[in-house]
Amino acid sequence: MLDLKPLWEIQLLDSQRKALEIKLKEGQISKDLKALRSEIEQGRADFDKLKEKYNSLKKELKKKEMDAAAATEQVDHLGQKLYSGTITNIKEINTSKIKLDSLKSVVNKTEDEILNIMEHLDSLRAQLEKKSVELNKKADEFRKMHGTYLANQQKIKSVLAQLPLSRQKILDKLDINLWNKYQEMKKRFNDPLAKVEKGICLGCRMGVPFNDLRLLKHGADLVYCSNCGRLLFWER
Ligand SMILES: [Zn+2]
Repeated sequence: MLDLKPLWEIQLLDSQRKALEIKLKEGQISKDLKALRSEIEQGRADFDKLKEKYNSLKKELKKKEMDAAAATEQVDHLGQKLYSGTITNIKEINTSKIKLDSLKSVVNKTEDEILNIMEHLDSLRAQLEKKSVELNKKADEFRKMHGTYLANQQKIKSVLAQLPLSRQKILDKLDINLWNKYQEMKKRFNDPLAKVEKGICLGCRMGVPFNDLRLLKHGADLVYCSNCGRLLFWER
């Protein structure tokens, strides 16, 4: 009685190994991880750009505040001089008044600008906070996904590491002639051994002639699919 079961198990192990190796190489999660990482990098660049804008605007605010303070001081100084009666010359009084008005309008204008900058800074600060929260969330997600990814890879690696031993155990039981025959067929087929279920060769999905089925179930000889040429295996 020919027992093709061990050969079937080897074929299963080999296809399992292939599938795992592919999974190890290009896991879907690793694509997602890559996408998320570039999203985070882009987000950080945007954040930095915005932060730079915020900082330069803050510097501008400081400068305007100093300008306003200096102009206000001049206004006070000139005003005191003008109204304390220190200046008596009419012409000088008139020029000083003009100068005072112009200084006051500078102060007003600068204060308006300061208000605008402050509003702009508030909006930038809100944007920065929002971006920072988003980035933190994404970074957390990345860490979680990366952890899962590593754990999965590790699992696959440990399953793969155990396969050769299981394979060898089966090989030891295998008839050498049968194994050589299988190896020879491997040149033509990825899966030289095809299971037969409900009278159909699962290698090519074609029906197996009645006589071949009879021989197969009898189990004395090797039976090949008359359509695809694969070696047929019928599980008892
Ligand atoms: Zn077939």
